[in-house]
Amino acid sequence: ERPKNCDFVLFGVLGDLSRRKLLPALYQLDKSGLLSSGTRIIGTARNDLTASEALERVEKTLREFVAKGDLDDNLLDRFCKRFHYVPMDFSELSSYASLKETLQAEQTAIFYLATPPSMYATICSGLEQQGLAKQPARVILEKPIGHNLGSSQEINQAVARYFDENQVYRIDHYLGKETVLNLLALRFANALFSSNWDNNAIDHIQITAAEQVGVEGRWGYYDDAGQLRDMVQNHLLQVLSLIAMEPPSRLDAESIREEKLKVLKALRPIDESNCQEVTVRGQYQAGFVADQRVPGYLDEDGARNNSQTETFVGLKVNIDNWRWSGVPFYLRTGKRMPEKRSEVVITFKKQLHNIFNDTTTELPPNKLVIRLQPDEGVEVQILNKIPGLGERMHLKATNLDLSFNETFEKKRIADAYERLLLEAMQGNQYLFVHRDEVEYAWRWIDSIVAAWDNNEQPPKAYQAGTWGPVGSVSLLAQDGRQWDE
Ligand code: NAP
Repeated sequence: ERPKNCDFVLFGVLGDLSRRKLLPALYQLDKSGLLSSGTRIIGTARNDLTASEALERVEKTLREFVAKGDLDDNLLDRFCKRFHYVPMDFSELSSYASLKETLQAEQTAIFYLATPPSMYATICSGLEQQGLAKQPARVILEKPIGHNLGSSQEINQAVARYFDENQVYRIDHYLGKETVLNLLALRFANALFSSNWDNNAIDHIQITAAEQVGVEGRWGYYDDAGQLRDMVQNHLLQVLSLIAMEPPSRLDAESIREEKLKVLKALRPIDESNCQEVTVRGQYQAGFVADQRVPGYLDEDGARNNSQTETFVGLKVNIDNWRWSGVPFYLRTGKRMPEKRSEVVITFKKQLHNIFNDTTTELPPNKLVIRLQPDEGVEVQILNKIPGLGERMHLKATNLDLSFNETFEKKRIADAYERLLLEAMQGNQYLFVHRDEVEYAWRWIDSIVAAWDNNEQPPKAYQAGTWGPVGSVSLLAQDGRQWDE
């Protein structure tokens, strides 16, 4: 459904995120006919560009970041007609008056803050002073919402001074991914899975988010955060919540967020008492990734040589509730891994009695693999008889493999940001993160950070191009399990 006309205001339009993701996503929405004819895109930045200079920049950005096959001169032209540029210093309250002049009072304004989070409070206050924060205006916030519970509360409180929670859209781009959404379809539309989604049927669950890249020139930013804050607090815990939550009564924001929040509240705390057994921290050293030699974390440009920031995290997470008691969730995420791969692997319990015991005494378990990237898809591993004559049944684990690209050939898989921008324009909050979720996630993460700080043990080294320190293997091996490769 096409959202009503709106004024979409992009704060930080010349920044990295706007250029690589947001402007291309808006272009794709326009191309798909999902922007109403009166919808306008208003870019703001502190650079004093003229209108035509700003348009030139936008066009150049689109030519650089939109897939060649999707570029079309007529569409570019139409997109540029929607675009208006307002130069402003976000910390200068007077400059919000010129923004107000550009906005059309009869259209809903949606403010996307693609700026450092330290600007959020100032921008919201500037908007409020000009009467721009009133309902039905919306504000979209990028991560990170703080770097611990205290700072996230500060940001949330500052924004809440000017905007109600139902106007605030906190982005976690994992929630815009096709396969993450498909988790809801798999779980709640298929009796095969919905009736087997608990500790009676499932042995354990693995969530992996592996990157091949290193710090990509942002050593300082990354070093303040580390992999736990950068990936686990938001993306991995969001995926975990969707897998573990109880069925929401409806597919709306309130019902879904309520259920996700219950999962976050049920996470067993990790603190000094158990941190040694259930966490692994690693930092990469020089090695080879995709046949290229790459430097170690401490030899990257801008590095401080005594940093103890982790670039790999492995966790064993327990959810203390009725459904998941006894089912561990193993999480791992790292930089400079052998491949770029994000996936969820759900391993079912083994068949207790084996009547095929000619070759093995134990039948391998069924697995459901949900690939989030790079090749989105779903795979079910089942045992089949190897065709052939003979007295004995010979079995083989085979994959029912559904690659989204191949199965839905004619459908282009939209980028996560396209979906999220569209939902925000439609006023649907179900793919955005509630303030309480952010704060409960931080509460849980802060306890791990505190335990690590108290331990004073440096992260374990791992060679770039490997799956992290050996401790990551032991994390599962101590439970008689192993990572799915
Ligand atoms: P960025 O490249 O630094 O862009 C921020 C933009 O805001 C810049 O154009 C900057 O202008 C502008 N800005 C900052 N202070 C301003 C002020 N007082 N007045 C006017 N303009 C001001 O940052 P980014 O990488 O796009 O990130 C934006 C947000 O998204 C951050 O919250 C970041 O954490 C988040 N994020 C980014 C990515 C990513 O892939 N880049 C991914 C996830 C989340 P100047 O250039 O003039 O300073």
